[in-house]
Amino acid sequence: MVRLSTALVALALGAASTFASPLSSDSQDANLAVRRSEAFNNLSPGVRAYLETLDPRDYEIDIPDEAELQRRQVTKDNGVIYNCKKGRVAVTYDDGPYKYHELLNQKWSDAGQQVTFFVNGYNYDCAYDEPWVTYLRHSVAAGHLLASHSWSHPHLTQLTDAEIDEQVNLMETMLLKTVGVVPKYFRCPYGEYDANVISRLQNKHGLTVVQWSDDIGDADGVSAAKQRATYNSYTSGQRHLILNHETHKSASHTVADTAIARFKNQGIKSQTVHDCIGASGSPYKVKATPGKRDSTWTCAGTPSPSS
Ligand SMILES: [Zn+2]
Repeated sequence: MVRLSTALVALALGAASTFASPLSSDSQDANLAVRRSEAFNNLSPGVRAYLETLDPRDYEIDIPDEAELQRRQVTKDNGVIYNCKKGRVAVTYDDGPYKYHELLNQKWSDAGQQVTFFVNGYNYDCAYDEPWVTYLRHSVAAGHLLASHSWSHPHLTQLTDAEIDEQVNLMETMLLKTVGVVPKYFRCPYGEYDANVISRLQNKHGLTVVQWSDDIGDADGVSAAKQRATYNSYTSGQRHLILNHETHKSASHTVADTAIARFKNQGIKSQTVHDCIGASGSPYKVKATPGKRDSTWTCAGTPSPSS
């Protein structure tokens, strides 16, 4: 359990209440209070510290509704997402931000479709640096979804609970300061998890863990032709949650072009993971005004890249 200062709780609850529906009974009041408290407790210490510096009008904390809480209750320890709802498709890109990120922002935006980026804080480069901050902001502005892929891409099953928490905390703080969002969705590096990892991510941090239904194989050396063939096999009405890596040139160039052309031909539209699973509420735990670059925008002293 996280200990909070009274002032900080009041601040957070005040901000949240401006987005809550009007209450009509004491029991609804009590339920809302529980939901607010859970939503706040799910936030990283770094996120809470940053929000304390903002005017409450400059941020909003997503409070899960009853349906969302029930979904989590039912799937509390194994509610990992593997696919979209029937007939829906979500294209996802892991391991960025990387030099092809902006190209993917543009390609999918130009096609009128949204994708999800499962990004790292410190993998190929430090996400606090430019041009990554600008690219990540462009993703959100274009309606794409930013989700967490851990800070430094470690094998989570080999970490202590405190180290798992650090991976989440560093990501949440970085994305809040730079872009103004705290992700609600998380993909484990290498897709590796166990019961403890899931419990930590979903119960302590209020995250939804997302795997995939289809892997185009870019990270495993599958040829670009074969990657394109995967997309060209998709037909209207199917559901797919597709793993790609933005760090691979083929996936970010010709394969993305093929996917967009095929989707257009078949009347398929890639949605964000949040939309493709039919989730309610905001796709982010928090949305806020981003900060201004300062000395805390650094990867120095944090866990270094593992892959
Ligand atoms: Zn990865």
